[in-house]
Amino acid sequence: MVTGVLCLVTPKLMNSKNIIIIGGGISGLATLHGLKAKFADRPDVKIILLEKADHLGGTASSQHFPEGIFEQGPNGFLDSRQETLNLCEELGLKQQLVRAADAADKKFLLLGGQLEEFPSDLKSFLGFRPLPFWDKIRLPLEIFVRKGSDPEETVYEFGVRRFGERFTKLFLDPFVTGIYGGDARELNLRAAFPRLHELEQNYGSLFRALMKLRQAKRGEGRQVSVTPKGKLTSFLRGMSAVGETIAAKYPDSIYLKHEVHPLEASGTGFKVEAGNASFYADKVFLCVPAFVAAGLVRNVSIEFSGLLERIPYAPMAVVGLMYERRSFSHPPEGFGYLVPSYEQKGVIGVLFDSNMFPNRASGDKVMIRLMLGGVNNPGIVREDHSAIRQLAREELAERFQLKAQPLKEFCVVHPRAIPQYDRSYARLLPALEQESARQENLFLVANYLKGVAFNDCVINARKAVLRCAI
Ligand SMILES: Cc1cc2nc3c(=O)[nH]c(=O)nc-3n(C[C@H](O)[C@H](O)[C@H](O)COP(=O)(O)OP(=O)(O)OC[C@H]3O[C@@H](n4cnc5c(N)ncnc54)[C@H](O)[C@@H]3O)c2cc1C
Repeated sequence: MVTGVLCLVTPKLMNSKNIIIIGGGISGLATLHGLKAKFADRPDVKIILLEKADHLGGTASSQHFPEGIFEQGPNGFLDSRQETLNLCEELGLKQQLVRAADAADKKFLLLGGQLEEFPSDLKSFLGFRPLPFWDKIRLPLEIFVRKGSDPEETVYEFGVRRFGERFTKLFLDPFVTGIYGGDARELNLRAAFPRLHELEQNYGSLFRALMKLRQAKRGEGRQVSVTPKGKLTSFLRGMSAVGETIAAKYPDSIYLKHEVHPLEASGTGFKVEAGNASFYADKVFLCVPAFVAAGLVRNVSIEFSGLLERIPYAPMAVVGLMYERRSFSHPPEGFGYLVPSYEQKGVIGVLFDSNMFPNRASGDKVMIRLMLGGVNNPGIVREDHSAIRQLAREELAERFQLKAQPLKEFCVVHPRAIPQYDRSYARLLPALEQESARQENLFLVANYLKGVAFNDCVINARKAVLRCAI
């Protein structure tokens, strides 16, 4: 792998084609692997990846320490997408895959200071006290609600229209905050949850959709759900396993500590400068957040840059706290809990990582991660790390009557963590797609298009690789 100083000018060579990938998060990594496979029998095609950090992985980075692992970003992905499973298999990571323990299937909501178990079936739903009786019996009437026609409808509006306000506040709001760090009143249903939109449009009702799909799939023995399917899955060494494996597989193609400067158009391609190195690229894959991509394409197309710049992001802080198990009178159970925004806690969700993946903390210890901030608490980025850690400790102390101090603390702040598929984004997207199509030698592969999940990044990369002809 190439790190540090390198002064190299790769001019456009006769008969040679250069592809440059900018950014070594999962989007860039899946792109690199896909392109290497696609052009394996084309020695004339040179592919390199430029990454500004000193390691690969981007948000999906794990911090290893003697007693466990702290994940700075995602703690896993759902095993429902074959594209990600194929990537793992091709990288030889299949044996490394670990599925979350069944004990972590239980999920909780923090409501009025109490942890309430998230209902997992009809019986527990009917017994779920925070949702009043009338709101429960109203639910089947969803079948009679007309389908929506407003392309800018928010998740909140959709929820209230179909299921009622109380249901939306209790279930949809924390779901949105948990995935996007976002605000259900702002996120656009169609862009943020395309499957819900599609089911409503195709079947007229989510209940009807569920029944019809169940009927159709009954013979196949497959499960049907309107929420994301699959089991949370990670790697024994944590999420940085993909970056570590790719770094070992393609050492000569990866340039770490190479922060790319704005691109310059050059012939039909681009001059790409990073540190004091200069490259020529026939094709460039931008696998960086939208606000970085905006800067990179500024000199190529000011319109493209302007559109990318307008994509909003939510800030997020992730705090990891490791305790002795015996510090808890009742050790935390299940997956963790989400906090609806009306609780106004500043905490979005709390994940019991070592319940999901026991090796996140050695035997007698417990690893808990707290997500703080989000669009409803943007001030988090101005707090210093010790204040954020304190907020996290206080949350757990209150929830579990904890008196002991953590054995280990970790904190990472992502000032612009997750793109927001909000109303303004919904208006922006057609223009962005149009402009992107005009830039035939520039490819956008990132979580601000077609989904923010780890799986979505892998799928986006795969699609972009298929489109790339050289
Ligand atoms: C806190 C958090 C928790 C999450 N949890 C989950 C989860 O549990 N499950 C899930 O499916 N998804 C989760 N996500 C979402 C998912 O992790 C991300 O969408 C995904 O990892 C983004 O990958 P990426 O490669 O598109 O971007 P990034 O990971 O941001 O990678 C971009 C890379 O580009 C590099 N870069 C930036 N500028 C330059 C430059 N000028 N030159 C060169 N390199 C540059 C960066 O250093 C970085 O390595 C989470 C996200 C966050 C923030």
